[in-house]
Amino acid sequence: MLLRFYKRLQNKFNSNKRLILINKPKSNKLFKEVLLHEFIHELIDSNRINIKSFKWNEGITAYLTYYALGKQREFYKKLKSTKNKIWNIYSTYARKWTIYLKDIQNPQQRKNIILKKVKIINKLKKSTKPKILDNIPERFNNTKKLIMM
Ligand SMILES: [Zn+2]
Repeated sequence: MLLRFYKRLQNKFNSNKRLILINKPKSNKLFKEVLLHEFIHELIDSNRINIKSFKWNEGITAYLTYYALGKQREFYKKLKSTKNKIWNIYSTYARKWTIYLKDIQNPQQRKNIILKKVKIINKLKKSTKPKILDNIPERFNNTKKLIMM
């Protein structure tokens, strides 16, 4: 059922267009924040900022969402963990970005620092792969070669 719905949507959109489906939260204020968050994901993508780590990617998006709302200072203080585990990840990584971008003077400087940090994050993501691959048993050796290509 959902697959058919998805296929129908896919036919209506050409490959340049993207569709984001959002559950409507109970509060209108929260809905606007979620909408802004998703819009910022798109902005990050269109600026070719490609972060391989889910946590760092959500963190920068949460940081920039709060920045756009003028609430980024909320990440200055140490955060208490909440019952919402996903939010705990978002806010922890948003705080890390807030610390990196604290003394930024202008948008160009912000983008440069973000790109520099993304390079480091993406390198770290790559360097963890061989460790995992080393643990693949001998009989999956072909798989190992395939993954490493
Ligand atoms: Zn997100």
